[in-house]
Amino acid sequence: MHSFDDFRDIVKADEPLAPHLWFRLGGPAAFLARPRTLDELVGLLRRCRDESIPFKVLGGGSNVLVRDEGVKALVLHLESPAFSDVTIRDGRIEAGAAVPLTALISQSTRAGLAGLEFLTGIPGTVGGALLGNAGDRQVSIGQLVDRVTVIDAAVEIKVRDRDDLRFADRESNLDELVILSAEFALERANPEVVVRRMRRIWIVKKENQPYGHQSSGCIFKNPTTDLSAGMLIEQAGLKGTRFGGAEVSDRHANFIVAQPGASTSDVLHLIDQIRQRVWQQFGYELELQIQIW
Ligand SMILES: Cc1cc2nc3c(=O)[nH]c(=O)nc-3n(C[C@H](O)[C@H](O)[C@H](O)COP(=O)(O)OP(=O)(O)OC[C@H]3O[C@@H](n4cnc5c(N)ncnc54)[C@H](O)[C@@H]3O)c2cc1C
Repeated sequence: MHSFDDFRDIVKADEPLAPHLWFRLGGPAAFLARPRTLDELVGLLRRCRDESIPFKVLGGGSNVLVRDEGVKALVLHLESPAFSDVTIRDGRIEAGAAVPLTALISQSTRAGLAGLEFLTGIPGTVGGALLGNAGDRQVSIGQLVDRVTVIDAAVEIKVRDRDDLRFADRESNLDELVILSAEFALERANPEVVVRRMRRIWIVKKENQPYGHQSSGCIFKNPTTDLSAGMLIEQAGLKGTRFGGAEVSDRHANFIVAQPGASTSDVLHLIDQIRQRVWQQFGYELELQIQIW
């Protein structure tokens, strides 16, 4: 049994994770840590490395589904002000990993910078968005990032420049221990024009996605750039299909929403059902976009 007695102010044992997740489902973390400083984060990572303790990083919890039995690891929840700084200088914005995307967009817009507004309506933080190269079908966050500061496998702080970074469909090569911050190069623009663009994006998203429900965004990646997983699921006649408390959203077939009483195993069962049906009907093997812990 691991002990984090010397970190007792910031590490709690057997802590519920569901309140930190957009799905609001799943069991507890064996340990949940909320490091308040970079030194505390580095100390925890060294402990994990030295004692071979598994760990995971949690950002905004909008792309993670936790199994009902919980997570047998130390979950590092990055949320403190130490990881939430935003600095704007010479058309560039540098943001800590825990900065919510909403704050990133609003601060850059206020400073007369444009380019990040396609992230409107995407929940989560800079760290989670970079790892999964969040975006829409045209633009992803990886296209705008110039430099990322990380903690690498040797628990050293390193800067990854544009040339070191690779982004693909909802994935990146940022398989480091922790993403700490990122720098974006943006264009100058009139804030009123950017706000109008953001409003238009938000109207379309609100119309097409089940905000206000417990969900984790799109469950599956699109099989190809011009073939959407949501369309295949809809054409397979699965919209509205339920298993226990989990339901394929009526509004967007690539979303599963959790109704009252739902469990993670309901969601996983529905995921299997969707995969099987899409495979049988169309011959596509749907790949998960969400992270299952
Ligand atoms: C209603 C809704 C709509 C959505 N719409 C979209 C959309 O349009 N486009 C889109 O791309 N996504 C969308 N998503 C998915 C999700 O919002 C994004 O993937 C988001 O960027 C995840 O960020 P997060 O901070 O919540 O990450 P988490 O869910 O906390 O974590 C996701 C992954 O990132 C890792 N991670 C998080 N922070 C760090 C860090 N600092 N260092 C290292 N690893 C880290 C975690 O370990 C995990 O593997 C949507 C989700 C919801 C609920």
